Amino acid sequence: MSALVWFRNDLRLLDNDAVLQACQNHQHVHFLVTPTLQQYVEHDWSLVKWDLYQRQMNQLGHDLADLGHTLHIHTLNKFADCSAFLTDFCSAQQVESIYFNREYPLDEVNRDQAVIAALQSNNVQVNTCDSNLLVAPEQIKNGKGEYYKVFTPFFKVWLQRIRENGVPAPYARNILQASSERSLAFEEVHLSLPEYPSELIPGLANSALTEPLQTSSEWPVGEATIRKLAQQFVREQSMEYKKQRDFPSIKGTSRLSAYFEIGAVSPRVAAHLLQRLSPEFPDGLPEGSHTWLSELAWREFYQHLMFHEPRLAKGQPFQVEQANFPWQTDVQKFAAWCNGRTGFPIVDAGMRELNNTGWMHNRVRMIVASFLVKDLHINWQWGERYFMRRLIDGSFSANNGGWQWSAGTGTDAAPYFRVFNPTSQGEKFDPSGRYIRKWLHELTDVPDKQVHTPHEWLRQASFLDESAHRYPPQIVDHKDAREHFIATFKQVKNAE
Ligand SMILES: Cc1cc2nc3c(=O)[nH]c(=O)nc-3n(C[C@H](O)[C@H](O)[C@H](O)COP(=O)(O)OP(=O)(O)OC[C@H]3O[C@@H](n4cnc5c(N)ncnc54)[C@H](O)[C@@H]3O)c2cc1C
Repeated sequence: MSALVWFRNDLRLLDNDAVLQACQNHQHVHFLVTPTLQQYVEHDWSLVKWDLYQRQMNQLGHDLADLGHTLHIHTLNKFADCSAFLTDFCSAQQVESIYFNREYPLDEVNRDQAVIAALQSNNVQVNTCDSNLLVAPEQIKNGKGEYYKVFTPFFKVWLQRIRENGVPAPYARNILQASSERSLAFEEVHLSLPEYPSELIPGLANSALTEPLQTSSEWPVGEATIRKLAQQFVREQSMEYKKQRDFPSIKGTSRLSAYFEIGAVSPRVAAHLLQRLSPEFPDGLPEGSHTWLSELAWREFYQHLMFHEPRLAKGQPFQVEQANFPWQTDVQKFAAWCNGRTGFPIVDAGMRELNNTGWMHNRVRMIVASFLVKDLHINWQWGERYFMRRLIDGSFSANNGGWQWSAGTGTDAAPYFRVFNPTSQGEKFDPSGRYIRKWLHELTDVPDKQVHTPHEWLRQASFLDESAHRYPPQIVDHKDAREHFIATFKQVKNAE
């Protein structure tokens, strides 16, 4: 009899409890990935995220083969296909125990419940782990036994749990090495996602939008490489994180989000690296590193929230009354936002960074999200979807959390009356316009002083150079839009 490790969003061998426990408890272990392609399309996976996932999956296949193990890759359509496939697999391979790491959004929870029921009725023992989080959702409750809706008290208890639990040393790979004698060959798979529906939202064809990026080749894969990136960041940069993280022209953040999302690196590995900066970890860290740790906690806060509030996975705002907000459905303005042609330089630079690289700096994510919702009055769910279709780190929970935070509809969100002024945000966080000019070639020649409000300078320059006309005029009046948003939000809130 044997065991099975079922990989999903945990494409790694190191610090993977499913791998560790299966190898500790069984002589013979199978390894399996089941990409569910149609489901990924329904969940709006971007092509670039899928490409990264697939490259890391193939690398995992090579890593296992080097250790004498086979990674089985079996393509399925939907989550609903998993139960029948796993039941057949387990009976054909005489699997007595299966191990996997939990995922927390509703569809994933439902998939796993169906799998667990099917396998248990076939006498397969099911073992679930939580090694994609430092603290599992059930471990954080307030005095009334409820989950936390506000981040600060959540963070306090989260730190306390880390103090109590410690951070176990992540060395599953040694266990695998001990059980292997020879290298095997591994044949890579190269799969395409099925076609997306032709419209992103009703009335807006995909063809009206900037072509999505398909290749993730700028992002290295392989656990050892990714771990080095994490190590480099924590050792050399995390201390400066608090000072640098808000400036998009500086590489002041870790850029690990896509790797956390597919599980190519675990938060426990990150915690171990931080521990080297402070023996009293999670206490005693340099201020910047502590702030970075708090971002890992935000990641977990939103995953816990998804788990405890399944309605969030059904497209509902956390603040239910905001479902009645009279959103505008101007697809032209939405397309201008998506394509980085709103006439607001920091917004356009952010959207073009996203379209060109699959990633966007966090400060700029907040600015473009606020602009879509509070200036254009367009439903945050349109933005949420567009982000998922373009981001390499698209994460249902972090993205939903980020959008609801920005829209003021979330739990512990930015207050609705806090409306970012896109011009002064640009001036504050990209003072010399270095980031803006990197992405907006139309503004290459605009002097620093005018780069955040370039239209007058461009108008004058256009006498000399026709190309100065190419940057679009502003599509909205910020002051009016802000007032209208605040008044409407208040009205909806008070109507309850
Ligand atoms: C509208 C909006 C949408 C977002 N969508 C996503 C998304 O789809 N996927 C995603 O991973 N993050 C998302 N974020 C959060 C954040 O912008 C990214 O995690 C961050 O920019 C990734 O860059 P980094 O790896 O350099 O982060 P760092 O600053 O180095 O942070 C370290 C890690 O902490 C986590 N993290 C950081 N900030 C947040 C946050 N606010 N919420 C949750 N986790 C966080 C990420 O895993 C990140 O890799 C979104 C934020 C906003 C405002």
